[in-house]
Amino acid sequence: MRDLKTIQNTVYDLIIIGGGINGAAIARDAALRGLKTIVVDKEDFGGGTTSWSTRLVHGGLRYLEYFEFNLVRESLKEREVLLHAAPHLAKPIQMTIPIYGSGSRSYWEIQAGMLLYDILSFDKTLLNHRMLSAKKMRQLFRSVNPEDLKGAAQYYDAQAEYAERLCLENVLSAQQAGAVTLNYVTVAEIQRQDDRITNLVCEDQLTGDRFTVQGSDKAVVINTSGPWVDQVLGLGRRGDRKAPIGTSKKMGGTKGSHIIVDTFPGAPDTAFYVEAASDGRPYFIVPWLNMYLIGTTDLRYTGDLDRVKADDDEIDYLIGETNRVLPTAHLSRKDIKFTYSGVRPLPNAEGKKPGSITRKHILFDHTKEGVSNLISLVGGKLTTHRQVGEEMVDRVYRKRQQPAPPCLTDKQRLPGAILPNAPEIDQALENYGDRVASESIHHLFAVYGALAPKVLALVDDDAELGEKIVNYLPDIKAQAVYAVRSELAYTLADICRRRTMLSMEANYGFDALPAILGALAKHCGWSEAECDRQTQAYRAFMEENCIPDYLLNSPELTRELQPAS
Ligand SMILES: Cc1cc2nc3c(=O)[nH]c(=O)nc-3n(C[C@H](O)[C@H](O)[C@H](O)COP(=O)(O)OP(=O)(O)OC[C@H]3O[C@@H](n4cnc5c(N)ncnc54)[C@H](O)[C@@H]3O)c2cc1C
Repeated sequence: MRDLKTIQNTVYDLIIIGGGINGAAIARDAALRGLKTIVVDKEDFGGGTTSWSTRLVHGGLRYLEYFEFNLVRESLKEREVLLHAAPHLAKPIQMTIPIYGSGSRSYWEIQAGMLLYDILSFDKTLLNHRMLSAKKMRQLFRSVNPEDLKGAAQYYDAQAEYAERLCLENVLSAQQAGAVTLNYVTVAEIQRQDDRITNLVCEDQLTGDRFTVQGSDKAVVINTSGPWVDQVLGLGRRGDRKAPIGTSKKMGGTKGSHIIVDTFPGAPDTAFYVEAASDGRPYFIVPWLNMYLIGTTDLRYTGDLDRVKADDDEIDYLIGETNRVLPTAHLSRKDIKFTYSGVRPLPNAEGKKPGSITRKHILFDHTKEGVSNLISLVGGKLTTHRQVGEEMVDRVYRKRQQPAPPCLTDKQRLPGAILPNAPEIDQALENYGDRVASESIHHLFAVYGALAPKVLALVDDDAELGEKIVNYLPDIKAQAVYAVRSELAYTLADICRRRTMLSMEANYGFDALPAILGALAKHCGWSEAECDRQTQAYRAFMEENCIPDYLLNSPELTRELQPAS
């Protein structure tokens, strides 16, 4: 149970609305610098845009075309910080750009871009780019479409395979540093008096309870609600009257969708960064969790932000473009394992082409709109979350007219930071090798890093928790119990979609449910009724977000989705 009474009786220096990657990073930075901080999210931490991204920690080669050199430099700097701060979560990934005669950029233009990318990342630990002739490219990637191929460029970026866990580790680090971190808490009203926000009225989604979060005299409120920024601003009230904050629209989100497929004939062993032949848009084919993540689209979006799903047209576009560059793939709808979509929290820029809207972030101070202690984040990539945290907390101290203590997040590592081949892995193999499969132990270190021994410790209490959840994947039952006890997970979607990646791997996660529910009934007090309710909610979540529309009513899928009893 969460102690809402104590929370209600406390006054906070910093109140953060939205616990995606940016809200989490701000909470971490602020708590480490001594601000009394609370962060709330209406759903799960990282459950918004953060869990629907391409998961690349990148400079954004594309932004060079728009002369956004500062943004590229900042992102490349942050890429390096993250490789150091979370080596278990951010890993180098090789990228290959096939260059075609019909493409919009020539071989030489791409080479110039590559040189600039290297210059802007002069202090990196990753290798510089290299250019490949058409012959070399065909030798390295025999399945690539050879027609009109002029060559290729190869370079390195980084990948956060578990972007959701990157967000979670920021939240856990904030919590360790003293922040209050509440998921499933919706901000329902933002109460204003004169030019200041005094308190927020919140609703606990788990119990329906309403409570108040109060700010101190110098409190600052941060709106990091991503694409929901305008909706949150609309929650302003003075007493009983509505008093929305500001009049202008800040956000102009675009929708991006991905498809996920198993490895296919001719699948590349690096990520591909390709210009789509049908519309010239860039998209990625990225090796991910032994599968391939392909995306994205970039479409203006004005629909429901809580229900964003890949359209059948987007799925067909991504299939068609992948088959075009890798003709041996022969992908079709039946190969799709999973889809997901998100809305980029971009600044409102009506009339601009979606791809040309700046990816820079803006700290929007609402003083000019008559509210002196509110800042909204407009924009902000996954890659630059730490930098956003630092800038925002510096700004908060300025607003409070206090000197800011030094930022710690550029050096302090995330809780799970561990290097590959750390001695802890051998130790765990020795301690648990008789009860837990060695591939599972390695998997736990790959996912939880230095926190893996805490998951394994649950096996000491009940050896059954060392068993695999499904026999074809390395995940073990202890992970579900650990998620609920130590990682703020409350629902099956939290466990299967964001603490683990079972939703993407085990038949939409349905194969995993019986073992997970068994472990939670035994160790976390989930009743039979709760298990049934959770199963239904999970199914609804998957249907609304991840299962393609064309599959929803197919008898084949209906059969497959029945969790084994
Ligand atoms: C398709 C796609 C691909 C992308 N690929 C990349 C990539 O490869 N690399 C990269 O660096 N970036 C990428 N991005 C961008 C990146 O994912 C986002 O910019 C980033 O995740 C935004 O994080 P955020 O914390 O600002 O917002 P979000 O993650 O959306 O978090 C906002 C949170 O606010 C909460 N909230 C909303 N209203 C309320 C309320 N009333 N009360 C309480 N909480 C509320 C929501 O539940 C949500 O969790 C991509 C984005 C998309 C859509």
